Amino acid sequence: AAERFTAANPKSAAIQEQALAAMPGGNTRTVLHYHPYPLRFARGEGCRLWDVDGHEYVDFLGEYTAGLYGHSEPVIRDAIKQAADDGWVLGGPTLLEARMAETVVNRFPALERVRFTNSGTEANLMALATARAHTGRDRVMVFKGAYHGGVLYFSGSPLNAPFDYVMGDYNDAEGSAALIREQGDRLAAVLVEPMSGSGGCLPGSGAFLQALRDATRETGALLIFDEVMTSRLSPTGLHGLLGITPDLLSLGKYVGGGLSFGAFGGRADILAKFDPRQPGAWPHAGTFNNNVFTMSAGLAGLTHVYTPERAVSLNADGDALRARLQTAIDDRGLPLAMTGRGSMMALHAGRTAPTSPPEAAQRNRRLVDLMHLDLIHGGIYTARRGMMVLSLPMDAAAFDTLAAAFEEFLDSRRGVIE
Ligand code: PMP
Repeated sequence: AAERFTAANPKSAAIQEQALAAMPGGNTRTVLHYHPYPLRFARGEGCRLWDVDGHEYVDFLGEYTAGLYGHSEPVIRDAIKQAADDGWVLGGPTLLEARMAETVVNRFPALERVRFTNSGTEANLMALATARAHTGRDRVMVFKGAYHGGVLYFSGSPLNAPFDYVMGDYNDAEGSAALIREQGDRLAAVLVEPMSGSGGCLPGSGAFLQALRDATRETGALLIFDEVMTSRLSPTGLHGLLGITPDLLSLGKYVGGGLSFGAFGGRADILAKFDPRQPGAWPHAGTFNNNVFTMSAGLAGLTHVYTPERAVSLNADGDALRARLQTAIDDRGLPLAMTGRGSMMALHAGRTAPTSPPEAAQRNRRLVDLMHLDLIHGGIYTARRGMMVLSLPMDAAAFDTLAAAFEEFLDSRRGVIE
């Protein structure tokens, strides 16, 4: 598969060679690297991408969920153009920022008050700092294998922000509740994704998430839901769909219309400490927190494009697609499992769905790598780790192209898969 890839992509190879002289590995996002080298993209439109060698792909990577609107969505493009016409380094609060804040507060039940940042990583760092300041406690609980940003990656990374961490097992309701109780008044916060996204699209069970809610309420630790990826899964985010309200919530990705974005917020009584009219208010700065391109694009997207109706239909399309791929697997009797929810899904080796990120990581990574290159050959661009994400411009033809390439992978690699 790698040889076929190299033969088809000489221009990507040449650019990779040049890029290696300036960047270790040739790009600045580890997650976009794969063997033998990543495709270089020239252009996107709707749900399609073109690389520098002229190949066309249906984009099922979807910028790891930030690409919900697809490429150059017309309403968002107009909002960005308007922002460009009106100036973009105004150095003061704007009407756009006020409207954007009102829109996200109205949309996500856990967000009584919100503050913007520039990335999901920053949103999570601020949410953790907020929880520590609010409780006067130091320690934070996360889950093994969780990803919450470049400096919050609990899979052996030596680069993490130096908080005092304790780690639970994802989807272990009893063990996690026991750990929270045992930590007692040392624990400031529990940070968790209600579905583990980069861990392999592994839904958190209702019992697990409710156990975290109950135990944190008992001990006074704050429950933080990282919905940077999952807020797309219903009109009110995944917490709205599940009916579990965390104390704090972080957002990112598509909510900024596809531009750099992050937000954190939650209970009004906690966020009130950021009100600078009060003596002793907590500071929260960030030159580009209210940058007008993001505010304009995000507001236009949430108001006119990703309406509640479209959130419901996109996620229904995702459920149908995931079932279709699983049926293709089952019809062939192969030991593979699709996981996910709504518009996010992933493939795993093995007959059963893994339930935690470390379990998913132990499964056959080579097989998922092989699928990734085979799908590229079939005109489908996905995340290397086997994740597939829907975007709004996708139609039946896009789903058919994926299903055909997937079935071709199952049939031509049957020997390896079994
Ligand atoms: N949290 C989760 C769950 C994420 O998936 C990501 C990014 N993939 C982040 C946080 C970090 O967001 P950003 O890349 O905008 O810093």
